[in-house]
Amino acid sequence: MQSAEEAVRNDELFYQHDSRKHEAQWEISLLTQLDRAIDNGEVWVAYQPKLDVKTNAITGAEALVRWTHPERGPISPDKFIRIAEEFHRIERITRFVINDAVRVAVDLASQGHDISISVNISAQLLRNPGLPGMISEILALHGLSSERLILEITETDRLDRSSRTFQMLQRLIQSGLRLSIDDFGTGNATIDYLRYLPATEVKIDKVFIQAMEANRQDHLLVQSIIEMAHSLDRTVVAEGVETGTALEILKGMGCDMIQGYYVCRPVPFPDLVERMAGEHER
Ligand code: C2E
Ligand code: CA
Ligand code: CA
Ligand code: CA
Repeated sequence: MQSAEEAVRNDELFYQHDSRKHEAQWEISLLTQLDRAIDNGEVWVAYQPKLDVKTNAITGAEALVRWTHPERGPISPDKFIRIAEEFHRIERITRFVINDAVRVAVDLASQGHDISISVNISAQLLRNPGLPGMISEILALHGLSSERLILEITETDRLDRSSRTFQMLQRLIQSGLRLSIDDFGTGNATIDYLRYLPATEVKIDKVFIQAMEANRQDHLLVQSIIEMAHSLDRTVVAEGVETGTALEILKGMGCDMIQGYYVCRPVPFPDLVERMAGEHER
């Protein structure tokens, strides 16, 4: 006979197993739907403006991929990007996003807004030798010059100067693209990336920005990151700015640009255009 304790334990194991099985099935079903979703417009790109705090002008925007599933509603990119990386779909998604972003930059330029567009590049894709070719092909197709595109790179591992990743980053820089170190401060190779990588921009992760109003340690940390990045001639962007107070603090610290719900949420392209037109009138 099973003791009551054993029975509970078995139940727990059963449910754990069951939920893991569900999770796996859900991932497989997402994956099988992803290709179709890109083709039929469920996958689209939102844009979040970057505000220059000194001039109060929008000087850039970040492309953030979205998947609006007809039954399940919005699916978080954190979730489906991870699955796409695992099952070799990241190149396809990135091509789709860059293509949209470049078209958007050209469209805005034709309306007199010369802004730069940032796209997120998975660490995994940096090991794909076809990446520079894919990007230059899209730029050529739409006639956009490479310095208008910023690639946001997230640190994952140590950045060894002899590594394939490092060589890839050099190639991208040589082709005129600009690099931004995303989620700065959260990885395990932060200083390596600052030392070795001629990135033009550093993006302070939103965990620090959101903690800084209440926590003195985080406040000092943000200030130090800005000073360190500036001494190395990098532009500093703060992400996740949600309040006027945060904006004022960052302004006081000499931060160059901010991004966050306080300025604007990630929005469909037409809403970005409307927002940019409003800028002009001010
Ligand atoms: P990330 O690159 O660090 O992007 C910033 C995230 O913060 C975005 O979440 C953005 O919507 C959100 N955010 C912006 N302002 C605020 C704010 O004021 N408060 C808060 N709480 N959040 C804010 P999102 O769009 O859900 O994207 C999550 C992550 O998914 C991104 O983090 C990025 O790592 C990844 N991702 C998104 N699009 C792409 C893509 O096209 N390619 C790749 N490889 N990754 C992508
Ligand atoms: Ca980013
Ligand atoms: Ca981040
Ligand atoms: Ca990220």
